Amino acid sequence: MKSGYITEMFSSFQGEGAYTGRRQIFIRFAGCPLSCFYCDTSYARDSRPEFCTVLGETDFGVRTTANVSFDDAFLSEQRVIENPMTSQLVIELMETLKTPDVHSICYTGGEPLISTAFVKEIAQEAKSRHMKNFIETSGCSASAFASLAEYFEFASIDIKLRHHRAVDDSNYERLYENELGCVKSSVDRGIDTIVKVVVLKDTSADEIEAVCRDLSGFDLKFVLQPVSAPRNLPEVAPSITELFTLSEVAGRFLQDVMVIPQVHKFMGIL
Ligand code: SF4
Repeated sequence: MKSGYITEMFSSFQGEGAYTGRRQIFIRFAGCPLSCFYCDTSYARDSRPEFCTVLGETDFGVRTTANVSFDDAFLSEQRVIENPMTSQLVIELMETLKTPDVHSICYTGGEPLISTAFVKEIAQEAKSRHMKNFIETSGCSASAFASLAEYFEFASIDIKLRHHRAVDDSNYERLYENELGCVKSSVDRGIDTIVKVVVLKDTSADEIEAVCRDLSGFDLKFVLQPVSAPRNLPEVAPSITELFTLSEVAGRFLQDVMVIPQVHKFMGIL
């Protein structure tokens, strides 16, 4: 049996992309090889966290409201589990988070593709229990994605732009090729594929056009996600006029284009 490192598990509403609003059980795998400057889960980039936190429904205020006292944490349903965890324990915890409205299990991060064997074992077992599997990935490894694809019904794959600073400039082309490789294997397998690009104030129409040209011909949903600007960088968010322009550019190459911000941020949930 495989074991691995998980940062947190919880049940919530999907806050990004084409399946926004669907109830999911999130498994946030630890570690990520990238370094996007706008990362909002930097706590999950530690690949060896000592503990995994399993959050209950009453814990969202504790995690998201700045002025809640620490004593409130003791009233919460939060459970703290030592890492590494076995895949069987993950499945047992997943079962405790099940509600009648669950759409799917969301394998997120961090980056799930760096825990391939562990993800595979969990996804296989979840599938045998008639759960649907949904992977959210930066697309950093096409080979890792291909090895997992048979277990997933849904895939949300990021395309990082050069100015996201996910990798050094010299490694950018390799990352981009891997992302396209993930998209190809996802679509070829018949997975419901969502491609997401985070856009900023300085994202150019030319960059979006180049990406959309490379994606044209694939059956996928394409999401432009305006960056949720970090507090210290409010000026990086794109204007509505810029979003209209980028969406129109994408629409010239792709059938199913949407502009969706991170809705969970508005709701104050994870
Ligand atoms: S890929 Fe995701 S988790 Fe990794 S640095 Fe970028 S935003 Fe953060």
